[in-house]
Amino acid sequence: MELPFAESYRIKMVAPIKKSTRAEREQWLKEAHYNLFNLKSDQVFIDLLTDSGTGAMSEQQWSAMMLGDESYAGASSYYNLKTAIQNILGFDYFLPTHQGRAAENVLFSVLVKEGDVVPGNSHFDTTKGHIEFRKAKAIDCTIEEAYQTELEYPFKGNVSVEKLEKVFASTDASKIKFIIVTVTNNSSGGQPVSMQNLRDVSQFAKSKGVMLIVDSARFAENAYFIKKREKGYENKSIKEIVSEMYSYADAMTMSSKKDAIVNMGGFIAMRSESLFEQASVFNIMFEGYLTYGGMSGRDMNALAQGLDEGTEFDYLETRIKQVEYLGNRLIEFGIPIQRPIGGHAVFIDAKKLLPNIAKEEFPAQTLAIELYLEAGIRGVEIGAILADRDPITRENRYPALELVRLAIPRRTYTNNHMDVVAVACKNVFDRKEKITKGCKIVKEAPIMRHFTVKIERM
Ligand SMILES: *Cc1c(COP(=O)(O)O)cnc(C)c1O
Repeated sequence: MELPFAESYRIKMVAPIKKSTRAEREQWLKEAHYNLFNLKSDQVFIDLLTDSGTGAMSEQQWSAMMLGDESYAGASSYYNLKTAIQNILGFDYFLPTHQGRAAENVLFSVLVKEGDVVPGNSHFDTTKGHIEFRKAKAIDCTIEEAYQTELEYPFKGNVSVEKLEKVFASTDASKIKFIIVTVTNNSSGGQPVSMQNLRDVSQFAKSKGVMLIVDSARFAENAYFIKKREKGYENKSIKEIVSEMYSYADAMTMSSKKDAIVNMGGFIAMRSESLFEQASVFNIMFEGYLTYGGMSGRDMNALAQGLDEGTEFDYLETRIKQVEYLGNRLIEFGIPIQRPIGGHAVFIDAKKLLPNIAKEEFPAQTLAIELYLEAGIRGVEIGAILADRDPITRENRYPALELVRLAIPRRTYTNNHMDVVAVACKNVFDRKEKITKGCKIVKEAPIMRHFTVKIERM
């Protein structure tokens, strides 16, 4: 008999979590204005709000923290991180930042000006926020296949070179300085970008004289999918694949809270010394001196170790198989999810699951609310609330997809937890005909409203 799959680690430290009653959850959610971000973590049983900074570090990472060098300038921890970035990602220059959005803020302070256009594949919300805040425009050039949730296509994160051509043809050349490719593509379902596509986009960018920047939060999961799905990469190691991926990029921004398995941190890495020098000015202003930039020495040490562990096959296989496990349980129950199953999360198609909720009543937010009430599970809306208003017309934007993302923290929950999540989803699915009313916004911030929005049920 073939041996079943098991995790490539054992558990050394645990954190208790609490169940609650439906009545308690009704009360807590009302107090939270139906915004799941407002819940206290102990009001949540299984927290799938995000996989960002919520993972469990290894014993090697914890011991690396003890060796953190907290010198203001020139700390050994900085050099540990520099070496890891050079060896694993292949960039000679880097700037530490306190997290991914800070990396965007620093880099875009150099590269993005009012009226600029930044093409890419479903820009992440903070990326888009930092572009729009500078009165520039993010243009989504993701391939069309990404929008058909149940279509099995191996690289739904890919950028359409045809769409890029159109953007370049209709834009003044001086307005585009770079193309940004997000790996894996978070907003369209944790879907990977193929090596071939990175190669094509890089060639296209070169032909137009613009840079290719990789938004890298889940680069290692992307590499895992290349190994599993792209011809010619089956026998390559994750580190070899990662190295080739970045050979096509001029620079990268990183939220280390994802694939580098730390609780806080980020960086910008680049090839160009001149870009490094320009960005350094903003890094010192916004983040900190060049050799710590918003991170403590111990955090940089844990990050250097995390970059190494995060690009090991055994870890990635355990990680992605757990996400797949949850996805497959949902598919067995007939629940419509984004396919193929992504790297860090399962995305439920809320329009299909709650067919009676109009887009103006936020089907994905409605589903996220129902899931919490059902079993204390916290997911997140990836729909019209996240899509925000058009910065010029101030009209609500209704994206093609209304998704609830169930993001799985790294090395944190067991498959028993995944089973609870799957059955909770099934229970909501079974009573979908009775869910006929959605929700409405009663208060919102002018930008990135989803974090603080106040909502009422209809
Ligand atoms: C998380 C993330 C960011 C922002 O990083 P933070 O560390 O949350 O500030 C940017 N891009 C992508 C693709 C992300 O997933």
